[in-house]
Amino acid sequence: MMKLKDIRPYLTEMLNSKYPDTEIRSFYNWIIEYLFTYTSTHSIIHAEKLLEDSDVLKLEQITNALKNEQPIQQILGYSWFYGNKFHVNKHVLIPRPETEELVDWILTENLDHKSILDVGSGTGCIPITLALNSSAKVSSFDISEEALEIAKKNAQNLKVAVDFFQGDVFSDTNMNQLGTYDIIVSNPPYVLDMDKVTMSNNVLLYEPHTALFVPDEDPIKYYTVIADIARHKLNMNGCLYFEIHEKKGEEVLNMLKNKGFSSLLLKQDMQGKDRMIKAVWKP
Ligand code: GLN
Repeated sequence: MMKLKDIRPYLTEMLNSKYPDTEIRSFYNWIIEYLFTYTSTHSIIHAEKLLEDSDVLKLEQITNALKNEQPIQQILGYSWFYGNKFHVNKHVLIPRPETEELVDWILTENLDHKSILDVGSGTGCIPITLALNSSAKVSSFDISEEALEIAKKNAQNLKVAVDFFQGDVFSDTNMNQLGTYDIIVSNPPYVLDMDKVTMSNNVLLYEPHTALFVPDEDPIKYYTVIADIARHKLNMNGCLYFEIHEKKGEEVLNMLKNKGFSSLLLKQDMQGKDRMIKAVWKP
């Protein structure tokens, strides 16, 4: 019979050829939260708890998926973002801490009665978190119907109103249907194709490439087209916020300057990497 206290050694034995101990500890925390809704402190109190057969089966399935390098969030079907639980699956990018920093930056603005457009919904973590923490009216679109399904489900679970709709940044018809906004925000695809060689399998094999990658020869194409949308759809003094590739700050800033944006700001993430940009539309 397996006890709760056996889970940690089991994970270590099964996974230590693939993962460092710190990561196995993090998997352990995810797994006991998923199986028993315990935090790691709780798990010490319940060390002698006997596992049900169904829990052992789930543990084995999760461990096998981890051996195949599937991200833990995708295996369990959820992730955390800004204190809230978001459903994830293979059609959406797993929310990243850098994106929490971007949202945090936007939330320092007075968003009362402002209108916000988020481009590229994914899980909906950006628009949903902005709507949950302000009285702004928030809209968001994505090209992927599968992503929109997840985003809508997340908004429903978190009991918040976000207007999600299907749209393609490269289609004029779609763009003509947009309203006007005080803020436009996006975390578009920005990982270079050539970065693939250094990326780990858990991202490369499991996360949607359409949400991640851009061709090496046209790395800021999403930023350029979104800036063009923003020029037409931002109200006077409206702000554009981007999450960016750490090596593309200068290029995105120059493009924005050439298109008539001002008060440009480049901000680093917690790791000290160029990661966010803010630009104001006051031509
Ligand atoms: N930050 C993500 C990563 O490095 C990429 C997000 C994006 O392409 N927008 O995996």
